[in-house]
Amino acid sequence: AKDSRCGVRVYRPEDDHDTARRLALMAGLRVAVDAGTLTVVYQPKVDPTTGRVLGAEALVRWQHDGRPVPPDEFIPLAEQARLIEPLTRHVLDTALADCATWRGLGHELSVAVNLSPDMLTDAALTGRVEQALHRHGLPAAALTLEITENALMADPTNARRTLDALHGLGVKLSIDDFGTGHSSLGRLAHLPIHEVKIDKSFVRHIVTDRSRRAVTDAALQLAHALDLTVVAEGVEEQDELDYLRRHGCHAIQGYLISKPIPPVEFLTWLTTTRAGG
Ligand code: C2E
Ligand code: CA
Ligand code: CA
Ligand code: CA
Repeated sequence: AKDSRCGVRVYRPEDDHDTARRLALMAGLRVAVDAGTLTVVYQPKVDPTTGRVLGAEALVRWQHDGRPVPPDEFIPLAEQARLIEPLTRHVLDTALADCATWRGLGHELSVAVNLSPDMLTDAALTGRVEQALHRHGLPAAALTLEITENALMADPTNARRTLDALHGLGVKLSIDDFGTGHSSLGRLAHLPIHEVKIDKSFVRHIVTDRSRRAVTDAALQLAHALDLTVVAEGVEEQDELDYLRRHGCHAIQGYLISKPIPPVEFLTWLTTTRAGG
């Protein structure tokens, strides 16, 4: 093994193993993206006061060699391998097709799709989104795009241009993982956003940890002042839901309501749940 003097990286046998796994995953992912075999699951967003279903977030799934690979592992690989653009197009198209089905059956839902930071500087994005909406006969307001705070920081000028164009179409924009990034509340106020999503790491401790609850409280106050919708993700406990409802949170998402589920199951859930509306 080399040593770490003079800035030379320490060699660890597991590095080769990690690299081999990453390369194998990248190759497999390329095949899956090309073949369109990635699937999408849906997790409902529900009004905590009325129980009404407001929409659903689309989350991509990938089975590789018969095993699910977590998105937190393969999304970064897709970003590095320049596969994120076709992957996102596939998820967007699938999500809009499913949303059109729900609406055709009388469920006035919207669907949310996650955008990787790189996508925000892709000049073709807005046109693609517009075409996809048109293809599925959906109004722009049926689509929410979730972006992280950090996506706005890397290339603010280009990101801003894309946000303005998407906003101009009528697509709703949501700040994902709110509280984990570095943007100030003040900066968000100047962006054409519709919604903030409080990260599940804050929601998890809402009832027990005052400092983490402070982030949630600040987000709720900011959102009310700016007329933004607040969504809390990762709601697992009834007392979390109760706190969020009492403090004016507009929508909740989490295992307490439903795990992310495949489209057929989601439709069944919609028609059988008492929250369905
Ligand atoms: P995210 O956008 O913050 O999505 C929320 C994650 O929290 C999802 O994990 C969801 O399954 C999980 N979750 C939902 N409710 C609960 C709960 O009550 N408790 C806990 N512990 N977790 C909950 P998932 O599906 O594994 O996705 C992880 C991340 O991968 C997403 O975080 C998002 O950043 C990324 N991702 C997923 N699908 C896509 C996609 O289509 N495109 C892009 N660019 N990124 C995606
Ligand atoms: Ca998200
Ligand atoms: Ca999140
Ligand atoms: Ca995330």
